[in-house]
Amino acid sequence: HERGATEFHGVGGPLNVADLRSPNLLTGVYVEAALEAGYVRNNDFSGASQEGISPYQLTQKNGERWSVARGYLHPVLDRPNLTVITNARTSRVLLEGKRATGVTYLQSGKSIDIGAEREVILAGGAINSPQLLMLSGIGPEDELKRHGIPLRHALPGVGQNLQDHLDALIVHKCVKPVSLGISFSNLLAQTKHLFSYLLHRTGPLTTNSAEGGGFVKSDPGQAIPDLQFHFTPAHLDEHGRNLSRAAFTMLGHGYALHVCDLRPKSRGHIGLKSADPTADALIEPNYLSHPDDMNTMVKGVKAARKVLAGKAFDPYRGVEIFPGRAVQSDEQIKAFIRRKAGTIYHPVGTCKMGRDEMAVVDDTLRVYGMQALRVVDASIMPTLIGGNTNAPTVMIAEKAAAMILQSRRATADTGSDRTAMAQV
Ligand SMILES: Cc1cc2nc3c(=O)[nH]c(=O)nc-3n(C[C@H](O)[C@H](O)[C@H](O)COP(=O)(O)OP(=O)(O)OC[C@H]3O[C@@H](n4cnc5c(N)ncnc54)[C@H](O)[C@@H]3O)c2cc1C
Repeated sequence: HERGATEFHGVGGPLNVADLRSPNLLTGVYVEAALEAGYVRNNDFSGASQEGISPYQLTQKNGERWSVARGYLHPVLDRPNLTVITNARTSRVLLEGKRATGVTYLQSGKSIDIGAEREVILAGGAINSPQLLMLSGIGPEDELKRHGIPLRHALPGVGQNLQDHLDALIVHKCVKPVSLGISFSNLLAQTKHLFSYLLHRTGPLTTNSAEGGGFVKSDPGQAIPDLQFHFTPAHLDEHGRNLSRAAFTMLGHGYALHVCDLRPKSRGHIGLKSADPTADALIEPNYLSHPDDMNTMVKGVKAARKVLAGKAFDPYRGVEIFPGRAVQSDEQIKAFIRRKAGTIYHPVGTCKMGRDEMAVVDDTLRVYGMQALRVVDASIMPTLIGGNTNAPTVMIAEKAAAMILQSRRATADTGSDRTAMAQV
């Protein structure tokens, strides 16, 4: 952590955590408005208490995204016992009885088998790890039967228990050209921003976009925060996922406040669309299937609107684009949520760790009923955490690495010397 070592943070580790280098002016406005709305300031969400408002800390280094590839993989790429195969898609786990012996992957139109002497680690994420297990014949019997996949091991929890943070956005136009968007009035400044990024790794191009943070309670009776804010000094819509939405995000000036339900009770599932390993998995998030989730989201939209109505925003506030001023009653807000809310990309739980019949992995992340097969990714979380999922997934991987090394040492002590491992 670039702020230095504390009771809660270390220094010098692979995952660099930094403060925003050049926060947008509107992010400070957001913090001021949220305090005005009655929320408390908290300079470290990962410290003694999560609750409060602050700019986010980022996984960045030198003003650039500090991904797990940069933090963990790139420094060891020249190890003789590591081979990274890219542009490849694993199509199934190879099995001998209940033992995983390797994987098959597809690359440049070829299907290639690769053996694992010790064990196979699936790390395909909460969508793809359960898909890969099912494609390999490990999963709910009905789902495999539906797609004509021979059953190798019945495990009803594979793909079930999908949880995600549903997110709604309150979006405003900004009447001053101070947000991250591009306009004629800031074209010269944008050119300067490009140079300050290229030369010094400073300026608005170091933004993570969702600069302002908040963990708050939908009502004071909550024991812990159940809503999360992400403030973006840009007017987003549907995360810019197609050309027109991207143009809306980039051009002109605005700002937006995301609000998500941190502790959803709804559960979805991952299934198969087909037995074809190149087909996408079936994703059924089942958002809002539990009525409490809709109630929390309605409170969240109202809380976000209260922040954006604060005096601090008066000099900047333009028209509310979404939901729009016509949307006022609870029923109208619910309709808006059903129409516009979407993922904030935190799917977990589809190969959950546990001890009940729906658990997929045990407390060493080994797949129940199988040998030499683990899952190490966000899918093993039994319950969605109340925050962003990247660092917790890295923590799961660190813990798994320690357990794998420990079991390897135990095997070495008993005289076995098998070393290879296939990781997907
Ligand atoms: C757009 C977006 C924004 C996000 N923003 C944040 C954020 O700001 N903060 C935060 O904390 N979290 C964020 N997250 C969530 C975070 O990225 C995830 O929680 C985290 O990456 C989960 O790690 P994982 O290892 O489980 O899965 P992943 O990171 O998805 O890793 C799985 C890997 O397996 C590969 N793979 C899958 N199937 C196969 C196959 N069959 N063959 C070969 N390879 C395969 C995938 O290509 C991928 O590289 C975001 C996610 C998204 C999508």
